[in-house]
Amino acid sequence: MDLAIHERGSPSRRHLRKIAAFTTPDLNRENRYTLTVKVVLQAAVLALAMVAALAPVSPATIERWFSTGLYPVIQHRLTPLANALPFAWLDVLVAAVCVAVLLVLVRAVRTSRQSRRLAPVLRAVASLATTAAAVYLVFLLLWGFNYRRVPMSERLLVEPGAPAADAVLALGTEAASQLNALHADAHRIGWVQPLDDQSLRQAFVDVQRMLVDAPAATPGRLKATLFGPYFRWTGVDGMINPFGLEVLSNPDLLDFERPFIAAHEWAHLAGYADESEASFVGWLTCMHADVPARYSAWLFLYWQINGELDAAARARLAQALGPGARQDITAIVERLQRGQRPWLRMAGWRLYDQYLKANRVEEGVRSYGAVVTLILRARFAPGWTPVRRASNLEPQ
Ligand SMILES: [Zn+2]
Repeated sequence: MDLAIHERGSPSRRHLRKIAAFTTPDLNRENRYTLTVKVVLQAAVLALAMVAALAPVSPATIERWFSTGLYPVIQHRLTPLANALPFAWLDVLVAAVCVAVLLVLVRAVRTSRQSRRLAPVLRAVASLATTAAAVYLVFLLLWGFNYRRVPMSERLLVEPGAPAADAVLALGTEAASQLNALHADAHRIGWVQPLDDQSLRQAFVDVQRMLVDAPAATPGRLKATLFGPYFRWTGVDGMINPFGLEVLSNPDLLDFERPFIAAHEWAHLAGYADESEASFVGWLTCMHADVPARYSAWLFLYWQINGELDAAARARLAQALGPGARQDITAIVERLQRGQRPWLRMAGWRLYDQYLKANRVEEGVRSYGAVVTLILRARFAPGWTPVRRASNLEPQ
């Protein structure tokens, strides 16, 4: 129709009115139809996100269909891709989201001012809410459902209840004596990028086989990110990006910290979303690797236990530490003190606490400390081999 009008030159006003009378009701009907479809779709996405957030699904079902079913397939595709990329996916995603949100809002406000109606702004807010719900669904499907898998205390033979205080102190003393014994050899051998450490990679495969009958996860390279300064200010050692299944790390990590931090993040990549479980799997991985990684894991455990003791027990533990290991601990303290901004650190961890609780980790950030309970209460065969409780993993 456009073509015909242009060919004949400018149409007369009467002609235009005729065209308008003919087309407008149709366009309105079409607009109304498009709008209805859009509203229905938006409501469906929001409803689906609500159901996904609140519906009770048994851990055995999640374990079978997601954590050992769909998730390994996704992880085996996304992590190698992320390892090959020289930059962090997360940086690109966050930048793109910020630009897109800004564009949508600016356009909506402009249209609203021109038409003197609030509807465009309301429509933009509805679109953004739907997009947020869709992003939440993508988060669950790519990684987030792992928060609801079978817990380690049901996967393994774990004695119920918290460990006794003297057992915690004894484990701390064991950590100190292991650090003293391993320090010289660990520093002589030195540390490489964890992804290039064949003994750590093999140990990661071995430990996963001890815990679950599923394909072993692909380990990730520790990548730098634009959020590096935020990690420094808040004392975050590393994280995985659940949308790209890549590992991002604090730029200031010391060589001897890296193997354990990498193994902890790899455990997240293997679908152990819970923090204490990721530390437990990471610690076991290092225990099955070479001396430098074992040193790194004992250093973590010493640090963790130190934080759970009273001042007197802490002083006793410090006395058990030789000069070499003490120097390394001091270096970590100095790294943290140099980088941290206390107010930002508190705000950052409070935010993460809320995120964990929203993902059904009731203990929030306190779940970090539960790793000591797992190490002390899980039953091990010789050589730090955890004993599985196979029957509970069957779907009910
Ligand atoms: Zn973690």
